[in-house]
Amino acid sequence: MKRVLITGAAGFLGSHLCDRFIKEGFYVIGMDNLITGNMENIEHLMPLPQFEFHHHDVTKYVHIPGDLHYILHFASPASPIDYLKKPIQTLKVGSLGTHNLLGLALSKKARILVASTSEVYGDPTVHPQNEEYWGNVNCVGPRGVYDEAKRFQEAITMAYHNMHQVETRIVRIFNTYGPRMRLDDGRVLPAFMSQALRGEDLTVFGDGSQTRSFCYVDDLVDGIYRLLFSDYHLPMNVGNPSEISMNDFGKEIIALTGTKQKLVYHPLPQDDPKQRCPDITKAKAILGWEPKIDRKEGLKRTYEYFKNKVK
Ligand code: UDP
Repeated sequence: MKRVLITGAAGFLGSHLCDRFIKEGFYVIGMDNLITGNMENIEHLMPLPQFEFHHHDVTKYVHIPGDLHYILHFASPASPIDYLKKPIQTLKVGSLGTHNLLGLALSKKARILVASTSEVYGDPTVHPQNEEYWGNVNCVGPRGVYDEAKRFQEAITMAYHNMHQVETRIVRIFNTYGPRMRLDDGRVLPAFMSQALRGEDLTVFGDGSQTRSFCYVDDLVDGIYRLLFSDYHLPMNVGNPSEISMNDFGKEIIALTGTKQKLVYHPLPQDDPKQRCPDITKAKAILGWEPKIDRKEGLKRTYEYFKNKVK
């Protein structure tokens, strides 16, 4: 049985990755320090003999006894609210944490995939964003702690690939949604859905003309799975290129939930990217991957989850 370590296992993406690797017949070692993760996301895996959980902070030395074939590094605060509240942990998990896991990959001869982000493109001046674009990041702004941690993560991952021939993969993840997102993580989708469910107005930041492109979690996990088993070591965008403004997104949530509430406008946070949309030409060509679940279907599935949570 191949053994895989997944960091951030109790988080939104990490827990879905654990599910997928269990389903594919792997032995999964989940690791999380639970500062933003939630054990509820993996409690269904705890009784399984092919799953074990380590409550550990990956910025400290990571010890895994026995063989290890794959590492997926998904530990990090990842929503603007979370990394504003935990700026130093965010910087440390992307830098020290990644260093520890690359060292582990080297010593175990394991292949490692690190979770990067569309935030490496900052407030982009190129649209849609392709992997060759270097980005437009304010390193001392509020988002700098996340953006620069992830940029450093990519740099050190490439260095281990070049210096030590570690088998590395880098995925640049665009906005993703689905069940197990935290209601209070401050992201737009949990905010809009929980506001609609509680009978509150939906808070649009700025004038709502800024865009995002939302990918359903199952599609994202499939792209990551394919990237891990490909032989492509340069950064790859994985996301859904269907782009929408926050105004239109708010209207879609109002239509889906049938709420009588309206959109209300709040100030735009500093350095909030004006537009974001992945160019997925590479993922299509190299992985044979593209998203299958459209926003209508994905939002319906996510709403079922949020309905139960808000209850
Ligand atoms: N946003 C919003 N209302 C909210 C939360 C977020 O209009 O209650 C906006 C936010 O300003 C941004 C977009 O929605 O333009 C996506 O924000 P999110 O935090 O989900 O992700 P990110 O900015 O990291 O893409």
